[in-house]
Amino acid sequence: MTITSKPSASPRSLNEPVLSVKGVTLEYPDGSDGVLTALDSVSLSIGPGEMHSLVGPSGSGKSSLLAVAATLISPTRGSVRIDGEEVTDLRRRRRDHIRREKIGMIFQQPNLLASLTAEEQLVMVEDFRGVSRRDAVSRAREALEVVGLSNAGQRRPHQLSGGQRQRVNIARALMGSPSVLLVDEPTAALDHDRSESIVRLLRRLTDEMGLATLMVTHDTDFVPLTDVVVTMRDGVLSDPVRTKTAAGPALSD
Ligand code: ADP
Ligand code: MG
Repeated sequence: MTITSKPSASPRSLNEPVLSVKGVTLEYPDGSDGVLTALDSVSLSIGPGEMHSLVGPSGSGKSSLLAVAATLISPTRGSVRIDGEEVTDLRRRRRDHIRREKIGMIFQQPNLLASLTAEEQLVMVEDFRGVSRRDAVSRAREALEVVGLSNAGQRRPHQLSGGQRQRVNIARALMGSPSVLLVDEPTAALDHDRSESIVRLLRRLTDEMGLATLMVTHDTDFVPLTDVVVTMRDGVLSDPVRTKTAAGPALSD
C-alpha cells in the first residue's frame, strides 16, 4: 500500500472543497448560567492541495475550530462537511470512523510513547485499524521515509531531536492516508530553522498527497508558505486572504 491520497468513494463533487465549515457557532457553558461563544458563525473551505494558515491571539478560538473540524466537538450550530459528507449530526461510530480514515491531526507536542520506537508508534496506529502486522510495518516504514526519517525507525523518542519527534508525529498522522490535515502550532517548541523545515514538510505533503491542510501558527514568518491566511478574533474568523507569494520561486524548496 502506498501513502498517497485515496481514491475517493465519497459524495464530494469535483469542485467541492475537501473541508467545508459553514456558519459554525460553538458555545461552552461559562461556569455560571451563561455561555461563552468560542466560535461565532465561522465559515471556511479548503480544497485538495491547499494549505491555509490560521492565526490570531491566544484564546480567540483557533483550537476550538480545529476540534470542531476534527469532529471531536459538535458545534452548537452550523455545518461541517468532509469530502462532501455532513459530519455534525452523525452517530458516534460513524464519526469515529471518519476521524480515523479521513483526518490527520498534529498537535504542538508530539504525544509519543516513551517506550516505543518510532516505527512501533506508527505500527500501533495500524493495529487499531485492524491492518495486518506485515502491512502495518511496511506502511510505517514508508511513512517514516516520506518525512525523512527512514534511518530513525528503531529509535525511541529520547533518542530523537524535537524536530525529529515532530516528524514522527506527522508520519503517524499520515498513516490512514487522510484527506484533511489539522495542525495546531506544530513549531511552538522548535527553533526557527527546525520550524521552517517542519512547515516546508507540511507544504510538500499537502501538495504531493492532495491534502486539505489547516495549520494554526503563531509564526507569521511561515504564512507565505501557505496559500491562504485567515485570522481569528474573539471567535470571529476573517475573510480568507490569498498570500501573494505562495507560488513564488523564492519560497519553493
Ligand atoms: P486558542 O486556541 O485560539 O488559544 P481556544 O479555542 O483554546 O483558543 O479557546 C477559545 C475560548 O474558549 C477561550 O476563551 C477558552 O477559554 C474557551 N474554552 C476552550 N475550551 C473550553 C472548554 N472545554 N470549556 C470551556 N471553555 C473553553
Ligand atoms: Mg490553541
